[in-house]
Amino acid sequence: MKIYGYGRQSINDDDINAVVEVLKSSYLTCGPKVKEFEKAICGYTGAKYCVAVNSATSGLHIAMLAAGISKGDEVITSPMTFLASANCAKFTGADVKFADIEKDTANIMPQEIKKHITNKTKAVIPVHFAGQSCDMEKIQQIAKEHNLYVVEDAAHAIGSDYKSVKVGSCKYSDMTVFSFHPVKTITTAEGGAVTTNSEELYNKLCAFRAHGMHKDGDMINTWEYEMRELGFNYRMTDVQAALGISQLKRLDFFKKRRREIVDFYNKNLRLPHLIEKDFSNACFHLYPILIENRKDFYFKARENGLNLQVHYIPVHLQPYYRNSGYKKGDYPNAENYYEHCISLPLYPDLTNDDLIEITQRIKGIVK
Ligand SMILES: *Cc1c(COP(=O)(O)O)cnc(C)c1O
Repeated sequence: MKIYGYGRQSINDDDINAVVEVLKSSYLTCGPKVKEFEKAICGYTGAKYCVAVNSATSGLHIAMLAAGISKGDEVITSPMTFLASANCAKFTGADVKFADIEKDTANIMPQEIKKHITNKTKAVIPVHFAGQSCDMEKIQQIAKEHNLYVVEDAAHAIGSDYKSVKVGSCKYSDMTVFSFHPVKTITTAEGGAVTTNSEELYNKLCAFRAHGMHKDGDMINTWEYEMRELGFNYRMTDVQAALGISQLKRLDFFKKRRREIVDFYNKNLRLPHLIEKDFSNACFHLYPILIENRKDFYFKARENGLNLQVHYIPVHLQPYYRNSGYKKGDYPNAENYYEHCISLPLYPDLTNDDLIEITQRIKGIVK
């Protein structure tokens, strides 16, 4: 029996050749490919600046640092996300507040963000769940009223559009963070990127990515550099960047194929799933369905060669966050979504025969 996971990378000969070419070159890291990848992401998204990093987690961390988030501040994000969307604020010593999600998209609800704003709130991190953009115009409006930074967690959403502009353009935000982990839409093995239109934020992001080092003015043609803040080594390698450049060229095809698969499931399974809003043209990362007895379904799916995944256990229910006082009942929409969600296989290398096979197995389970 063929085994299917919920997501996997698509690697072709162009991707492999791009990586091999770098391995034969002079620079495995700190070479020209990283800049070329950053330029390509700017070209694709329309953002002015891009900083490639070794993961989206690192990208979210330096985005928080660039925004000046620190101890005593509060940052608002969705409870229905991967840990890193919240942890990035904690890395800086700030506190995390959550705002509940919409039932039909699993995206953060703008009105809920408003409810959790205090005079300590400095930033909001909307997460574009399953690839569909949050309602960024509303979120930007709220952020403007309260003088907040907006950092988009677009780990799911490279290739997606919101009101006909690309996610990552930063038209409605200060910074956008992408992930290139193999389950995401394009991959660099591990990797991420932050886009922005602000030169000031860009310079800070570059410094925090590399030890807080600056080399400018008279230093450029000498050995000199200055460390002006405490930074990290969050650099992406040229090997990764070369893979990213090649993958980015395939992104529009990935998007088309992912939508075909989503349409196929919608039409042939007819199980409760998330809906897409009019403002969205998503490059879908996940296809979650909502199942009454999810645990039973999960184990039956496994017996049928479908290794599915649950996205996500609400972050506020993790022991670490419960320690700061969060408990069951705090975010009912996220908790209810979690009780029923499970993500079906969604990746471009699935063939039409795979889709028929997967659909048949699922129908056999839900009957
Ligand atoms: C995957 C993911 C991340 C973290 O990405 P890494 O590149 O693995 O660090 C952050 N946020 C969300 C919503 C994700 O899905």
